[in-house]
Amino acid sequence: MTRPERMIVALDIGGTKIASALVDGTGVLRSPVSRISTPREGDGIVRAVIEQAIAARDAADGRVDAIGIATAGVIDRRGRVVAATDLLPGWAGRDLADDVQSALGAPTTVLNDVHATAVAEHALGSARGLENALIVAVGTGLGGAIVSQGRLLHGRSGLAGTVAHLPSGLHEGRRCACGEIDHLEPYVSGPGMQLTYRGLSGRDWKLEQIADASRQGDAFALEALASGGRLLGRSLAHLSTTLDPDVVVVGGGVAGTGDPYWSALRRNFAENAHDLIAPVPVRAAALGTDAPLAGAALAAVEALTAREEEGR
Ligand SMILES: [Zn+2]
Repeated sequence: MTRPERMIVALDIGGTKIASALVDGTGVLRSPVSRISTPREGDGIVRAVIEQAIAARDAADGRVDAIGIATAGVIDRRGRVVAATDLLPGWAGRDLADDVQSALGAPTTVLNDVHATAVAEHALGSARGLENALIVAVGTGLGGAIVSQGRLLHGRSGLAGTVAHLPSGLHEGRRCACGEIDHLEPYVSGPGMQLTYRGLSGRDWKLEQIADASRQGDAFALEALASGGRLLGRSLAHLSTTLDPDVVVVGGGVAGTGDPYWSALRRNFAENAHDLIAPVPVRAAALGTDAPLAGAALAAVEALTAREEEGR
């Protein structure tokens, strides 16, 4: 049940920025998004999050029903950070929901940022109105989430939907962020495609430059983008044959690189999926960089509603 009159302070903690905004009960942003640099260690991040949340609450004249936080890292059901990227040292082990709830006195929900994006895409974006969705975000890393029968799948430890560490099937010895070699992420992420481009052309270019070059017909750029699209399309096809989704949604910076990427992705999805899965639409994410804020707020509203129903 959505209650538009609810007001949520939403935060999105990334490796470089912490974004915050007021969001209503339907996931619509009700204030400009404020962004600060992410402090370099755990205590500093918690302090910054609490300061941002207080500032946002004050901007709403204190009329805030809950706090919703999206963050990088693996988050358990109680809102604790159980594992985190190297970008956020000292982040793993934090009882973030409890810290923020104690400081602000408002119910606090914490979830992984790609899980939050999936909640938002399901409620308001490319998976709207559909029961089952596989949602991935391809940028500097590769994140994923599953919506099953209308609900975000959390899993036992909060890892559900993770696609980064599937075997790529390639054997170039590329090191994954998790420490293993030849996982999917170091091939299909933005840095992965930059590496592919460097291998083909000898040039150390950013993804945007490679995307620009592909529009000028640079054969190496076209191949680097297409190879990332092919590999992701094939992996999503195999996952979809297991999950049987209504839709596959692909977002993140890499999804904006244009047609060579998308046609390779969609073609390889259809070619590698079970016959019943091949027609499943593979769509671009509809919501932009504010999606984790909207999703964190919607998750906070859902937790509030569940608590109220329990109390009845
Ligand atoms: Zn890995």
